[in-house]
Amino acid sequence: MTSQNNIKNLTCPFCSMHCDDISVTTTNDQYKVDQKNTVCAKKIESYNLNTKSIVMPMVGKKVVKLSEALKKISNLIKGHNETLILNHGVELAGLRSILSFASQRNCIVDHVNSKFLYQNIGVVQRTGYMATSLTETKNRADAIIIFGNEVLTKTPRLIDKVLTPKNSLFPTSKKEIILIGNFSAKIVKNIKGKGKCNITNIKLDLNLVGDFLKLLATDDLKLLKGLKKSELIKIKNILNKSKYIVATWTASDFIKTLNPKKIIAAICKYIVDLNVSSRAACMPISGILADETSSQALTWMTGFPSSIKHMDGTFKHDRNAFNSQKLIDEKNVDVVIHVSTINSGKLKINSDITNIVLGHPNTTFTSTPDIFIPVGIPGIDYEGIMFRTDKVVSVALKKIRDIKLPSTQNILDNLA
Ligand code: SF4
Repeated sequence: MTSQNNIKNLTCPFCSMHCDDISVTTTNDQYKVDQKNTVCAKKIESYNLNTKSIVMPMVGKKVVKLSEALKKISNLIKGHNETLILNHGVELAGLRSILSFASQRNCIVDHVNSKFLYQNIGVVQRTGYMATSLTETKNRADAIIIFGNEVLTKTPRLIDKVLTPKNSLFPTSKKEIILIGNFSAKIVKNIKGKGKCNITNIKLDLNLVGDFLKLLATDDLKLLKGLKKSELIKIKNILNKSKYIVATWTASDFIKTLNPKKIIAAICKYIVDLNVSSRAACMPISGILADETSSQALTWMTGFPSSIKHMDGTFKHDRNAFNSQKLIDEKNVDVVIHVSTINSGKLKINSDITNIVLGHPNTTFTSTPDIFIPVGIPGIDYEGIMFRTDKVVSVALKKIRDIKLPSTQNILDNLA
């Protein structure tokens, strides 16, 4: 018998905005998203089960019972001396279980996006910065500078919900949006089409962000490659008139630049300096693999945001020694347990190491892992908590289908 349900106000787990206004119609185990933003609708719907979904545990290419897969994992870990748990995105309860399991087996724990986290944290630790929330940016900012184009691809509804919101507590005439970097004509047109902002796009090489910000902070009208004098004057005028400037970026956007940390430090310094005579704040957007949930939970449970190992009865942190990418590339771990409940990308498997994957049923890999256990998706298959990019909101995730898969927590607690 067909069972159909309309569910409103779901929280989306698939990027760090965690929008909480998603409506879906479920028909048995399938769901359809009612969302104007088609990019987001397609993304959420892509986690529907399909003919390629893996809903049974596998050892290599053979389907096995869950009890058999768990027994094999226990044996594998017992015989090895270095196990890495690599987080590709999971909710709070899953993280608690990762830490509990790691503390019993002396495992290393890292998030796949740690390097981006440390690029932002480095500034907090060394030079200081001032941050704001999505809500304050929506309501108060009259000028928003976006450095790099990935932020709008990774968080597609940032435009509708924050940059050009329909409603805001303190509506300004029109927000000034300054795009720094190689933004496509389609994105510029899309933002312009909202009609609530003026757009200025400077196609500047991101390596020149520091020089650009120095020009903004002085009366200098020196030219940079990609920046016309008229554009520089225009931006200076906009920023001089603004009462609340917000700078936003996502650290992964700077990965191809010569010195990502220097760029982030330059943005933060520019913002801090503006506060001497005006009001301004940073709004970095974290990665889409529950990066913020991971760093928040690990920080309050272990004192460190990522790259940790349980040893001598406590968690120790070393961002080089416990850097997951290095450990895998240099084969300095015996077993990697990948935990991946919301990642749509292909999991990179180094087949020189034993790989165990606790992943959602539509997980794909670069090569077949040794053991795969399908687990539920937080916010689709079970309830949970995640943290929004700006750290000020923790959101409740709901359950919308029942495909009888265990959660990451169920599996790790069983193994511990
Ligand atoms: S912007 Fe992010 S959280 Fe919001 S609906 Fe799209 S993917 Fe989900």
